[in-house]
Amino acid sequence: MKLEALPRRRYTPNPTPIQKLERLSRHLGGPEIWIKRDDLTGLAGGGNKTRKLEFLIADALIQGADTLITVGAVQSNHCRLTLAAAAHEGLKCRLVLEQRVPGSYRKEASGNNFLFDLLGAETQTVVEGGSDLSAAMQGEADKLKALGRKGYVIPGGGSNALGAMGYVVCAREILAQSLDAGLSFSDFVVASGSAGTHAGLLVGFTAANAGVPLTGVNVRRPRAEQEGNVHKLAMEAAAFASLPAPSRESVVALDEWVGPGYSLPTDEMVEAVRMFAQLEGILLDPVYTGKAAAGLISLVRRGHFAKDGRVLFVHTGGAPSLFAYQSVLAG
Ligand SMILES: *Cc1c(COP(=O)(O)O)cnc(C)c1O
Repeated sequence: MKLEALPRRRYTPNPTPIQKLERLSRHLGGPEIWIKRDDLTGLAGGGNKTRKLEFLIADALIQGADTLITVGAVQSNHCRLTLAAAAHEGLKCRLVLEQRVPGSYRKEASGNNFLFDLLGAETQTVVEGGSDLSAAMQGEADKLKALGRKGYVIPGGGSNALGAMGYVVCAREILAQSLDAGLSFSDFVVASGSAGTHAGLLVGFTAANAGVPLTGVNVRRPRAEQEGNVHKLAMEAAAFASLPAPSRESVVALDEWVGPGYSLPTDEMVEAVRMFAQLEGILLDPVYTGKAAAGLISLVRRGHFAKDGRVLFVHTGGAPSLFAYQSVLAG
């Protein structure tokens, strides 16, 4: 179906800003660095999942669901934003929380975990890393059915073809803003996790023939595996929206900044989070944008980008989880 005709809820009133990072660019001495402020999307605390939820929740409402069911890690931004959307729409919401790091769930933890409770999660079911998450969510849907209710299952990160439409829209928004402002970018950089953001942007840029490389920075998986995941989802999303499929070669998902694993701190992440905070007054997060920005900074330092280039870093949000990483990030 054409994007324009797809049912969509609206959670962000205006395009998110594109801003120049003057002091960071000067500090690094490489290309101009700009930022797309998708940390300023609507719903509690903002972030990239808001764009995906515009399409996913429109579908849930059409299907007559009364309860959203989704899954995420113990500090999931996606779970926070799904809860916020549910509250806004008058739906209930059940969470399945995956302990990707063994023993990482603490009932009293701060950050997003605290907000799960505040935003009114109906249930929070903690499962071990590597569990069958689809089965766990289907189990919740079955329980609701037995109660005469109707659940709507949203996959992790909202990353299916429908959710990825949020980032096809974002790619168009970026290109329209750069045209309006007379700003041509030479590179795009984004965090790559459950792949919907990366895949959606790639589909949007490819369809518009943007001709600008998009570099994904992984937060969890080895490069080949992540590139395969992104390409598969990009092909599904392109088919869904009747747009051209991106080539496998156009998928780049670097894995050098994952460190010891998903959500586990690295020195480069700490440096990046502190650098963005202190040079630009912008809060990154420790799990996604901190590692993506660590990748951006390293790539600038090693001369990966043309020195007269103009790089756009897509800020995907996540700052609420900073409050669960105070001991790692404090000076
Ligand atoms: C989920 C998330 C990402 C990764 O986006 P995916 O679509 O899952 O790849 C990046 N940044 C933040 C802050 C996130 O919460």
